[in-house]
Amino acid sequence: MKLRLILGDQLSSDISSLRDVDAKNDTLLMCEVRAEATYVKHHKKKIVFVFSSMRHFAAELVRSELNLQYVKYDDPQNSGSLVGEVARFLAQGDYDEVIVTAPSEYRLSNEMQSWPSILGIPVTIREDDRFLCTPAEFSNWAKGRKQLRMEYFYREMRRKYSVLMDETGPVGGQWNYDSDNRKPPVAGMTVPDTYRAEPDSVTQEIMTLVETHFPDHFGDLYPFHFAVTRDQALAALDEFITRRLTFFGDYQDAMIQGEPWMYHSHIGLYLNCGLLNPLECIERAEAAFHKGDAPLNAVEGFIRQILGWREYVRGIYWHEMPHYASQNFLEAKRTLPDFFWTGVTQMNCMRQCITETKQNAYAHHIQRLMVLGNFCLLAGIDPDEVNNWYLLVYADAYEWVELPNVSGMILFADGGQLASKPYAASGAYIKKMSNYCASCTYKVTVKNGPKACPFNYLYWDFIGRNDAKLRGNPRMGFMYKSLDRMSTEKRHAIRDDSRRFFKALETNEKGR
Ligand code: FAD
Repeated sequence: MKLRLILGDQLSSDISSLRDVDAKNDTLLMCEVRAEATYVKHHKKKIVFVFSSMRHFAAELVRSELNLQYVKYDDPQNSGSLVGEVARFLAQGDYDEVIVTAPSEYRLSNEMQSWPSILGIPVTIREDDRFLCTPAEFSNWAKGRKQLRMEYFYREMRRKYSVLMDETGPVGGQWNYDSDNRKPPVAGMTVPDTYRAEPDSVTQEIMTLVETHFPDHFGDLYPFHFAVTRDQALAALDEFITRRLTFFGDYQDAMIQGEPWMYHSHIGLYLNCGLLNPLECIERAEAAFHKGDAPLNAVEGFIRQILGWREYVRGIYWHEMPHYASQNFLEAKRTLPDFFWTGVTQMNCMRQCITETKQNAYAHHIQRLMVLGNFCLLAGIDPDEVNNWYLLVYADAYEWVELPNVSGMILFADGGQLASKPYAASGAYIKKMSNYCASCTYKVTVKNGPKACPFNYLYWDFIGRNDAKLRGNPRMGFMYKSLDRMSTEKRHAIRDDSRRFFKALETNEKGR
């Protein structure tokens, strides 16, 4: 008789822990526990999404006549931890084994190593084969390479799964169409809305629970419209494929004031908790291309995110943990400014991205990378504080995907393991790819002085401040040549503006 534990991000009916289930004798266990809901103070919408998806998934399992025990968050007997709940149920039956699919995060995986001795019973941890590359395969690929680069990994994955391939090689003759995918937004463009599901009574009950038990967590609870069942998640995927995929590539990097969703898919949260499977999303997009419903630059771009980036960051995570979490190559130490929680700042782009994050538990990639992330990089914010923020504010955030994106992609805290150079940019990039600057107090065309866009001087301050660490990077040579050509007055202006900006930040912090 087995006790099969299903975690909150394992909501897939073909999950490895359920294979060979004996419907008569085995017990399935799902629990909403305090330890998981509060190890960071997750966005309220994220907790509603995970708990509601769990309860709907549990109902499906019961409909399949499996014997399931479900522990609600406010059950008076709930011990508050996964191991506590497993122990409680083991005591109620004659079990000979606990079976679980490998947790996605190092924290829990590490904790589980001690479960057999704590519980006094074998604990079998099965591979999570919903991913398209196992940690062992990734390590094999990485072994002996001087530099790890996503592009080469992605090509291997395209070959392995025969995705967008023909007899001669990649469809269209190129592996990557990214250079076609950098169009700025067009004035007056109307973007199709995101998928919206009506909260049912299960979701509403959890919304009340979250209001009661997590009142001090970040984020707006209303309106809630995420999918919480597999059927709804499939409908959300379908809407993306039919209504937004065509322009996914063209406007992948574009940002528009008041348009938080753009042409992105908004499926990351469903993929990460198991309501959608990565291969089915890839296949749907590829089929749209073959039917002539979406262009190659869009389809290849979308598939690269899932088959390439998603698997690559997970590979890096398991290859490099646990030391990856403590890296701070640029020795960044500054405290995360208070406006990351309130959205109250004069910088319109930051205000927009933070406010939308607070409302939706979502920001699209370029907002996370080139606005919020760029600011954290240039301002030298402590990686621990930045990681904590990103891990709690987004509904799709789990450490395996959040940490490499934050420490590797935005902060260069890993010294270049994930990205070949820091994604640092001045205000000119934000002006080119968005219409945020038009409504800003600061002037993006002004480089120095109190009216200047802070991204302009913070960019050069960052380059100068990190000279010893970054000058040797071959992809940064051009920047250091420009810095070397700068007059002493210009350098002083950059230093003085940056000092003034940081001082104002600190004063605000003290006045909190
Ligand atoms: P789309 O833009 O439509 O992309 C499709 C899918 O591709 C996504 O759903 C996701 O599964 C995958 N994908 C795209 N880019 C990446 C990437 N860089 N890494 C991994 N998968 C990717 N993604 C998360 O799932 N969870 C996170 O916690 C997370 N944190 C991030 C933090 C930072 C600083 C940055 C720069 C990126 C982060 N990402 C994270 C990656 C990416 O921004 C989100 O996956 C994406 O914005 C989710 O929205 P979407 O579903 O509309 O994605």
